[in-house]
Order: sequence, then structure tokens, then C-alpha cells
Amino acid sequence: MDIPLIKDVLNSSNVGREITLRGFANSVRSGKNNIFIILRDPSGLLQCVSHSGESAFREASEITRESSIEVKGILKEDARAIGGYELAIDAVKIFGIAEPYPMKKGHKKVFLFDNRHLWMRSPKVTAVMKVRSTVFESIHEFFNGNGFYEIQSPSFVGGSVEGGSTLFELDYFDKKAYLSQSWQLYAEAMVNSLWKIYTVAPSFRAEKSKTWRHLTEFWHAEAEIAFATNQDIIALEENMIKHVVKNVLSRNQDELELLKRDQTVLKNTVQKPFLRMGYESIIDLANKNGLNLAYDSDLGADEERVITSKLDVPVFATDFPKKLKPFYHKPNPSDSDHVLCNDLLAPEGYGEIIGGGQRVDDKETLLNRLREDGLNPNDYRWYVDIRRYGAIPHSGFGLGIDRLVMWICKLPHIMYAVPFPRTPRRIYP
Ligand code: ATP
Ligand code: MG
Repeated sequence: MDIPLIKDVLNSSNVGREITLRGFANSVRSGKNNIFIILRDPSGLLQCVSHSGESAFREASEITRESSIEVKGILKEDARAIGGYELAIDAVKIFGIAEPYPMKKGHKKVFLFDNRHLWMRSPKVTAVMKVRSTVFESIHEFFNGNGFYEIQSPSFVGGSVEGGSTLFELDYFDKKAYLSQSWQLYAEAMVNSLWKIYTVAPSFRAEKSKTWRHLTEFWHAEAEIAFATNQDIIALEENMIKHVVKNVLSRNQDELELLKRDQTVLKNTVQKPFLRMGYESIIDLANKNGLNLAYDSDLGADEERVITSKLDVPVFATDFPKKLKPFYHKPNPSDSDHVLCNDLLAPEGYGEIIGGGQRVDDKETLLNRLREDGLNPNDYRWYVDIRRYGAIPHSGFGLGIDRLVMWICKLPHIMYAVPFPRTPRRIYP
């Protein structure tokens, strides 16, 4: 069943016609002689009016803010109303009367997220979710258009990928298991048969350090490609981000305007080449902007905020010191203290949205890297096997989709980019 939407009926050819719409009462204003109801549906808002003495007036006067209703009436042009139209109500059907609605302007962040199930309905949150939908759709579109197979890895796993400190441990019958931090290890097995693969799935990390860009459950778009180098994967990441941002700019103008998003940097992202800087140059840039980092410092949310705040296109930070990256990153053959990797940092202070690079493809190096990271190679037998039977060079990346949405919409915290965010302090609603 297709319910007509406000944006589809608001045009001059419908003026004078009777139309029927469903939605929620975004606001209700009653006077002695008339009632103004702003109707809201997924596509927008429309002012509806009922005058005393008309047949629908009694029913209309029962409608409270956020009640769910159907209204039938004649569409009129009205320059004073939002969108330039008004509906003169002839008949009202009430699906559900709303009790006094708790959401008001000026609430604090904690109250808003405690009531996320209601706050969802607000035009701003709806706009973010529409952009988010375009982002997911565009990621699938990009991979499907470039010859990738979509494939899945398990969420229950037996070991760590990104380091033990952010593992969620759980009882798995008589054994310990963990929630997956990344599909990485499984991808490296699957890439040998399919060569170009991707997945879009949740990853789980018990992030103890609370920052504006960390969730405990986030959506991860990961890709792995046989025979690809770090440089190949950098080019692919750039094309993917350009594709996603271009789609948002063309499909979500209304939402970007509602969110008052300045679009200059998004347009640059589509049109200009991304910057590329080696790790050392990134450290120099940070220090030029007031930080005091050594040439082996890890970069977190605070450092990347400083590094990227003045940039107007994304930047690839490449070739990090080996000790800053997990064991599966391939050391540079001509400089074994650094790995062949890239982090894509979003501009405007947002920082890392993608981590990628070339993977270790020989058995002895992998065994050494596992031991250096304090891991027991015996726990990774199947993963080491991949190098035992016909190893190939391969590369891949992981994109944090929620972080990408946060940056595209220029939101102040990653929680705003997610329908029901999960953080160390929030599992309700
Ligand atoms: P960070 O240094 O910011 O903690 P990371 O280097 O640990 O991130 P990766 O392991 O490279 O992250 O994961 C790939 C991508 O997944 C990141 O670039 C980021 O966009 C996203 N990501 C990682 N951890 C989180 C998280 N806790 N919440 C949201 N997104 C995340
Ligand atoms: Mg990373």
C-alpha cells in the first residue's frame, strides 16, 4: 500500500483538489475560531486548518501534539504557511491520541538520548537518518559497481584482531568467546577465492576511553582485495568516499539545508584530489599547530582534531611506525620499522574515518608480528595457514560508517549519527 506523502502532493496542479494525508501532529495551535495543525510525515510538514462551525472542527479539537492522524481536505496556496500551501480540513480520522508530549526545545543531551525513541521523530534527526540511508545505499552501490562480492564473517570469534583491550568477552558454552572487532582475519581467508570482497556489518569494541567519535557497537564497511597494494587501496578509498559524498550532495540537498551544513568542504571532497602525507609530515603538521608530539606518538581524537581542523579536503596519513598498528599490517620491505598503511582523516576536525593498508603475506613475518604483539601464534593457527598454502599480496580497509555520517552532517558527536547509539554509558533505549 502506498500512502501519499506531503512532498508529492504539494504542487500547483493539486490546488483546489481534495487530498488525503496521514502523519503526526507536529504542533497544534488552537484559537477560539480555528485550529492549526502542522502535519508531519517522512517527507515534510504541511499546515492544516479547521474553522469553528465546520463539520470536522469537533474532531480536530481533540488532536494533541504528536497524535497520529489522517486528514482529508482541499489544498490551497498560502504564502504565509511553511512550503507555501495549506490544507482546509474536511474530515479527520484519529489513529492514536498522544498524551502530553515530553520533548521540548532546549533539552539537555542526556534527556534527548534517554528519549531517543521519541526524539527520532524530529525533523533534524529524520534528516540525519535520511543522509545515513544514502550513505549505506551508496557504499553498496560503489562495491557492486566495481566487481566486489558481498560476503559475511562471524560476530562470535575466538581471538582479538585490534588488540585485547577493547574485546567484549562472553561465555560461549564452556569456552570464552568475543564479539568481532573487525572481519579482518576472515576476510584474508575469503579473499583467496573471491579476490574482491566487502561486507557491511556491525563491529564491537569495548572502548574505555570515552571520546566524541567512539561507539561500542559501530557499522563497519570493510573491503579486501587480492594482489592489491597500499597505493591501490588508497585510490579505491578515495573513489568510494567521492561516490558517497557526491550522492549525498545530489540526493539530500533538503536535509543538508535543514541541518545548515556548509557544503564547501563536501563539494571539495568530490572535486579535488585528497591530500597524502607520510606519518612524519603529519606529526610536523600537528606540532606546527601547537602540539608537541614525538615521531612515534599514536594519533587519537584530540590530535587528529588539531591536525585536520584547518583542512578543506580529506587527507591520507600513510606509513605509520609498526608499533602503532596491529600485527596483520605489512612492514615496508625497505624500512621494516614502518608499515604499508593508510588512515583517511576527514577534514574540519573530524579525523580518522578509514584505516587500511597492505597485509603481511609471509608466514615468518606474521609469526614474528604476532609474538611482538604479545599474542600466541597457536591461537591463530588457521590464520597462519593462509600464508602456508599459496600466500598472495593483498590489501584492504575498514570504514567507520557512523563516523562518515557524523562528518558529512557535521554533527558534534558520533551518537547523533546513529539511531540508537551504544556507548559505555548507554544501552537504553
Ligand atoms: P581509533 O584510533 O579512532 O580508535 P582505530 O584505528 O582503532 O580507531 P580501526 O581499527 O582502524 O580503528 O577501524 C577502522 C575504522 O572503524 C576506523 O577508521 C573508524 O572509522 C571506525 N571505528 C573504529 N573504532 C570505532 C568505534 N569505537 N566507534 C566508531 N567507529 C569506529
Ligand atoms: Mg585505524
